[in-house]
Amino acid sequence: MAPRERIGVYPGTFDPITLGHLDIIRRGAHLVDRLVIGVTNNPAKSPMFSVEERMAMIRREVADVAGIEVVEFDSLLMDFAEREGAGLILRGLRAVADFEYEYQMAGMNQQLNDRIETVFLMADVCLQPIASRLVKEIACYGGKIDKFVTAAVAADVAARLARK
Ligand code: ADP
Repeated sequence: MAPRERIGVYPGTFDPITLGHLDIIRRGAHLVDRLVIGVTNNPAKSPMFSVEERMAMIRREVADVAGIEVVEFDSLLMDFAEREGAGLILRGLRAVADFEYEYQMAGMNQQLNDRIETVFLMADVCLQPIASRLVKEIACYGGKIDKFVTAAVAADVAARLARK
């Protein structure tokens, strides 16, 4: 019998994708055969980039990583993971600030579907403080964001701000 493919889902808003996200993706890709990056539209967060733009940026940034798929989703995370045939959900854990929310979400998701495990990964220490929200805030005030995102993403952010 052929071994079952291990599929993981990495959900997020990715507005925009940062070096922290990319580090988690690279680490996560080693753990599964196929990693599905689930991009939520999340209009409540008033994103800087449309979900299509965010997906295109992610695809461009992970073009060299094998076994990655980028998919939009706007359903319950556990339903999305089930639909994709995933056995695990990857989340990045930053400082204590993330813990409370992630702990609660993982606990409730466990109640919703006990067959799918949530796995927490830590990004490289120097990438841990990075958050998309702060990247946008720094860029809005004219600060440099090239330590937090790739050059191509920094250019996308600059172009978006110039349009405003
Ligand atoms: P953000 O909170 O930056 O808007 P997302 O909603 O896109 O990010 O986050 C998707 C996932 O990536 C979450 O699990 C989040 O904790 C994780 N993540 C985001 N930035 C980092 C980072 N710098 N290091 C580790 N994990 C991260």
